[in-house]
Amino acid sequence: MKSQRKPVVGRGATKQVSRQVFLERAEHYRDDMVRFLRDLIRIPSESAQEEKVVRRIQQEMEKLQYDEVVIDGFGNIRGRVGSGRRKFAIDAHIDTVGVGDPDTWKWDPFEGKVENGIIYGRGACDQTGGMVSATYAGRILKDLGIGGDYAVYMVGSVMEEDCDGLPWLYILREENPGIECVIITEPTNLQIYRGHRGRMEIEVTTKGLSCHGSAPERGVNAVYKMAPVVKEIESLNTRLRHDDFLGKGTVTISDIRATSPSLCAVADSCTIHLDRRLTAGETKALAVSEVKDAARRAGIPDAQVRILEYQRPTWTKKVYPMEKYYPTWVLREDHPLIVCAAEAYQRALGERAKIGKWTFSTNGVAVAGLCGVPCFGFGPAEESTAHSPMDQCPIDHLVKAAAFYASFVPTYVETTRRDQIRLDDARPKVKKSRAALSARSVRSVTRSGR
Ligand SMILES: [Zn+2]
Repeated sequence: MKSQRKPVVGRGATKQVSRQVFLERAEHYRDDMVRFLRDLIRIPSESAQEEKVVRRIQQEMEKLQYDEVVIDGFGNIRGRVGSGRRKFAIDAHIDTVGVGDPDTWKWDPFEGKVENGIIYGRGACDQTGGMVSATYAGRILKDLGIGGDYAVYMVGSVMEEDCDGLPWLYILREENPGIECVIITEPTNLQIYRGHRGRMEIEVTTKGLSCHGSAPERGVNAVYKMAPVVKEIESLNTRLRHDDFLGKGTVTISDIRATSPSLCAVADSCTIHLDRRLTAGETKALAVSEVKDAARRAGIPDAQVRILEYQRPTWTKKVYPMEKYYPTWVLREDHPLIVCAAEAYQRALGERAKIGKWTFSTNGVAVAGLCGVPCFGFGPAEESTAHSPMDQCPIDHLVKAAAFYASFVPTYVETTRRDQIRLDDARPKVKKSRAALSARSVRSVTRSGR
């Protein structure tokens, strides 16, 4: 482990690192982080087109003397610091959504405008800012000579905007199953987030019988069959479950389409696309049965209901199919990982952390929701500017987030044990399989049975 600076502490002596040290070191890299983030913004990186941004991150990690930098088969990049046995990761997805209507932008989305301490541009908030802070946290660990039995991976994941969780399903199943926990660096306004609602994409199809449009009474119009189903879905939304922390489950129709032999014919099929958000306690089976019930209430019991599958190739041409079911996940406020995160926050920034949740969905759906690996959120910028023409990240947030990530590493290694992170403390510690242990550590409220 080379360091450009004399270590201020030795191996195993990380407790003596005062909070100023993390923040001071992060402050030292303020201008480098600004430059790096502006560079990332200048490289358009919509889902499945992230190769150039991956290469730019690789260059930065190599410059900062990471112990290893790998681009995996899926196209994710991961830089490693440390060679110990306790493995954990800090994740930033590095794809962005498109710009939408260019006329709604007051500046060039790919310039990286800096004004009054804020960097503007596509992806600044959601969420290349998190990648920048995590990348420099790795360097800070090296500068400070933070030793110990750990390997921390700074991951730039791809395809998240198109299929949240998929890059991490790949990482945890194919590349690195030993990872104990993950920090998700999506925007949290520097708060610690401990969960969010899950989601599903469901299609409902009605079948009709086409005939010439001049004599519609000869056929069965699939659009008319769908009409009462549409009304029932609207009404279903009002009945869905509420959770005090995560909020209400919702369903909305995001698309409707029909097929027919011509525009002068009766439609022979009609399909609606449902965006279903799942709150605590709402399972995949429950969500599907509710939609089937809505079709029955509409008097169309033969409507077909199916969960969609994602199969788009990544920039490396990898196809890794995933059902479009993204489970809800939430950690208790007193889960050891959340307690540890709050301690790392206090150590890095000298204040009490605020604990909250995201409105949107993140890679946590696979990390915690499908794989049972505990995770939490901490990121620069505010969720509210994500996907908008106001996409932005305060420079101060980059500095503070880098200090927090660096502080988290020794705090985690010193204050937690592997079994403690995985086990629910309230439960008796009986010997269980690895999968069962991980399942217990997270209140994965809508486990799919995968
Ligand atoms: Zn995001």
